[in-house]
Amino acid sequence: MQTISILGSTGSIGTQALQLVALHPERFRVVAMTGHRNRELFFEQVRTFRPEMAGLTEPIPMEEVPADLRFCRWVMGKEALHVAAAEIPADMVLVSVVGIAGLQSVMDALHANRQVLLANKEALVTGGHLVMDAARRIGKPLLPVDSEHSAIFQCLQGAAGNQPVKLLLTASGGPFRTWDKERIYNATRQEALNHPNWAMGAKITIDSASMFNKALEIIEARWLFDMAPEKIEVVVHPQSIIHSAVEFSDGAVIAQLGVPDMRVPIQYAMSYPERLPTGSKPLDLFALGQLTFERGDEVRFPALRIVKECLNAGGASCTILNGANEAAVAAFLGGEIPFGGITRLVEGALEKLGPMPASNLDDIFHADQEARRIVAELLPAIRK
Ligand code: NDP
Ligand code: MG
Repeated sequence: MQTISILGSTGSIGTQALQLVALHPERFRVVAMTGHRNRELFFEQVRTFRPEMAGLTEPIPMEEVPADLRFCRWVMGKEALHVAAAEIPADMVLVSVVGIAGLQSVMDALHANRQVLLANKEALVTGGHLVMDAARRIGKPLLPVDSEHSAIFQCLQGAAGNQPVKLLLTASGGPFRTWDKERIYNATRQEALNHPNWAMGAKITIDSASMFNKALEIIEARWLFDMAPEKIEVVVHPQSIIHSAVEFSDGAVIAQLGVPDMRVPIQYAMSYPERLPTGSKPLDLFALGQLTFERGDEVRFPALRIVKECLNAGGASCTILNGANEAAVAAFLGGEIPFGGITRLVEGALEKLGPMPASNLDDIFHADQEARRIVAELLPAIRK
């Protein structure tokens, strides 16, 4: 029996992780969980999984917690993340909150010597060097949940210590893969939320449409696998069957395949190195017939170019990219700006702020705040 704390249990990743706990009750037990705004779902989850600690990061008065759920310790506000990550003893901590909110939690969990299962890519995007240092210090590798990074991690299990010479990071291309620049610029919220292969939270779905998701994943892979950015290649693969691949010096390429189903990488992180049933459908290559590949287009998807510039610039550039993108995606989801405005705001923030230091968490949170401030400043000029 392994105990798990789930930060962001009400999200797309969090709810699937709970499905897996329910599928293997003899194997996993939830000891702590946090939600943010979706309190009705959260109450239901607490009722079902009966953790020792529960908390809503968007605080509510205790009187509003149903009486039958007061059996556990309740912590409201941001403190809930800290308690779930570091105070409640757990064999593993799944960080599946969205956005830079995950960075502090990952650091808290690592400082408390916890095995971290990482869905929240923003933690590595913004504070990669600090997170990797902390993980190295406790000698517990981060177990990736992001499907591409889980794929690479799985491929590396067959590497017998040989270093890959290249990572092939696959991308579905999102809903606008075949659209022209103009049409992408004016895409609606509904069009952008309509991902062809994956059902995910709103923020990452918008990121997949702009390919900022792939940009963030390049940074994530750079840190997780200690790989020079120029050795990470994006391969657009619309069927989302090959989840990523690694190339070795002899020319051999090892890839990981499967139907697109996040339960597979979530559970691989939970049960690593063991594999257990997930409820996922088996892969039927005959039904698929063919797999296709394209190059990422930096003109229609400037995120793929911007990320290279940020990685070259170093310092807090990736944090600025992330913070500006988070704020811009929120503005797009709120109907304030056109889809193409997201890229304009990210580039605007990077240009205005220039290089900033990233030596510690304070630097990183400062750069993040600055990026959001600039986005707010630039927003009126590109309002719809
Ligand atoms: P969702 O939006 O579905 O869920 C996010 C979770 O975080 C919810 O539990 C939400 O609570 C909570 N939350 C939101 N804002 C805050 C905050 N400020 N502080 C604390 N908690 C907060 O996101 P996903 O599950 O899709 O994604 C989670 C992370 O996993 C992201 O970093 C994403 O990039 C990554 N990821 C997701 C994949 C997917 O398939 N969904 C694939 C690969 C990576 P509530 O809903 O109660 O408000
Ligand atoms: Mg991914």
